[in-house]
Amino acid sequence: MAYLINCECGAQIRAEKEDSLVLQVEQHVADTHPELKGKMTRDDIMAMAEPV
Ligand SMILES: [Zn+2]
Repeated sequence: MAYLINCECGAQIRAEKEDSLVLQVEQHVADTHPELKGKMTRDDIMAMAEPV
């Protein structure tokens, strides 16, 4: 199953696997939302993800 996240900044992050999605979101947060870095858990990320 693939997953899609629509970030509040307008970025779309899509991945084929949970692990990959979490890594990509963590990278996006580090690059774009440094104030949120370390505050989003895997559960938070998966709660935002839509299966596609
Ligand atoms: Zn964003």
